[in-house]
Amino acid sequence: MKLTLIAIAAVAAAIGFGYYALNTNSTSNTDGDTIGGIKVTNKSPERKDKVFKTDAEWKKQLTPEQYKILRAEGTEAAFCGGHLNNKEKGIYSCVGCNLPLFKSDSKFESGTGWPSFFQPFKQENVWLKVDKSFGMTRYEVLCSRCDGHLGHVFDDGPTDKTGLRYCINGDILTFKKDEK
Ligand SMILES: [Zn+2]
Repeated sequence: MKLTLIAIAAVAAAIGFGYYALNTNSTSNTDGDTIGGIKVTNKSPERKDKVFKTDAEWKKQLTPEQYKILRAEGTEAAFCGGHLNNKEKGIYSCVGCNLPLFKSDSKFESGTGWPSFFQPFKQENVWLKVDKSFGMTRYEVLCSRCDGHLGHVFDDGPTDKTGLRYCINGDILTFKKDEK
């Protein structure tokens, strides 16, 4: 009888702990995080068309500013990057590997000084990683083909869309206008 009680107590504790662990997991800033229902993976996704280059190769291909953002997680100054006021219809791609990242119809005016989008061209073309630099917890957005740093994603985007704001450095995007 005593044993049964202990067993019941142990099971109850395990369930309680499991519930607690689940709960803390969903609110803590760990690998299990999600933002707008999108998983923060912290792990570069596998792709058949991955692009790997040495630092020297990247430096040769990119301008110093593009290198600083894409390969060294830099941020361009607000209102200074490219494409901020571009309202033309087309596709924005990664300057590092040419993967399409965002469409013009997902771009919106956020007033932040960086090109802002409410969703990527395809969800699998970007991946998210926890960034704890500067004493903040933010979610870094990376290109899934070359793993280049693109910007950050926040959950204060347009509520009639995804509710997300992909805050992207304009200087690491190339733009191709839709053909008429
Ligand atoms: Zn890329």
